[in-house]
Amino acid sequence: MNGVEQNIIRVEHLVKRYNNIAAVNDVSFEIKKGEIFGLLGPNGAGKSTIISILCGLLEPTSGRGIIDGFDIQKNAFEIKKIIGVVPQEISLYSTLTARENLDFYAKVYGLPRRLREQRIAELLKMSGLTLRADESLQSYSGGMKRRINIAVALLHKPRILFMDEPTAGVDPQSRKRIYDTILELNSKGMTVLLTTHQLEDAEKLCHRIAIVDNGKLIALDTLEGLMKLVGESDIVRIEARDITQNTITSLEKINNVQKISVDGETMTVQLLKGREMLARIIDILTDSGTKVDSIQIKEPDLETLFLHLTGTKLRR
Ligand code: ATP
Repeated sequence: MNGVEQNIIRVEHLVKRYNNIAAVNDVSFEIKKGEIFGLLGPNGAGKSTIISILCGLLEPTSGRGIIDGFDIQKNAFEIKKIIGVVPQEISLYSTLTARENLDFYAKVYGLPRRLREQRIAELLKMSGLTLRADESLQSYSGGMKRRINIAVALLHKPRILFMDEPTAGVDPQSRKRIYDTILELNSKGMTVLLTTHQLEDAEKLCHRIAIVDNGKLIALDTLEGLMKLVGESDIVRIEARDITQNTITSLEKINNVQKISVDGETMTVQLLKGREMLARIIDILTDSGTKVDSIQIKEPDLETLFLHLTGTKLRR
């Protein structure tokens, strides 16, 4: 990859306001050709809004987006030809079969009959659903429908794929197949922008990850680069009842503790050398009479990172 060609998507100071609320608040990033780029953040962070603006489904309040040299506001027609969009909601006709659904959308794209049949056969194979292609979608699992939803977005052979929560609500088998499909498409040169609030998606798929919260981009790097931000911290997760402010204050006095957050009955303590400090933590909890249901120690992951950056947990 080199020079001018390198960035296939450029987002500059994107803003989307709904009345006084900024769903997207001055977001800028670039995506390299051939990259799988993840927008990771909790519900309501602004991920779908960013994707919708880039796909031409929403007008930005201000800012600019350039896709393969085309301006998202001025060249929507050209952009539609080179992008595929997998929406968050499944947009298929449940009374039709998978093949009929694909055929319907292939006609919408204006593919001639021969090409339609060829593309549909290829995409059914890719989805692992050739043998069930002539069953109505009513007999399909959520994951199978999602695989067909992805196939629809690929009918016209786009070069860039936008996927909004591609694995939301799918079973592990379909998740694995969706991962394989994305990696396979990418190995053939497809650039992918996906949104997710699933850590696993970002970890397994993305070359680079942008973390979005409250409409703002708060970090952008490779997984490795992002983890360096957290440093050597561990996370100790404590499920307990009766967590009092006094207990939190006592825990905060442990030198190694960097951050404590409480969400209902889950207390998350971010600290250095978590394993070594565990006995001390348990002593404090016991002395304060906290009713502990479980204690778990975790190596840093994206959830740790999110907590580190925002002080809140990534929630579904
Ligand atoms: P999710 O994972 O739930 O889709 P998200 O990160 O994609 O979350 P968005 O759907 O982009 O988040 O929403 C960002 C913010 O903008 C939210 O606070 C949402 O309530 C708000 N929002 C989105 N669409 C509208 C709208 N049409 N009118 C008003 N507010 C909206």
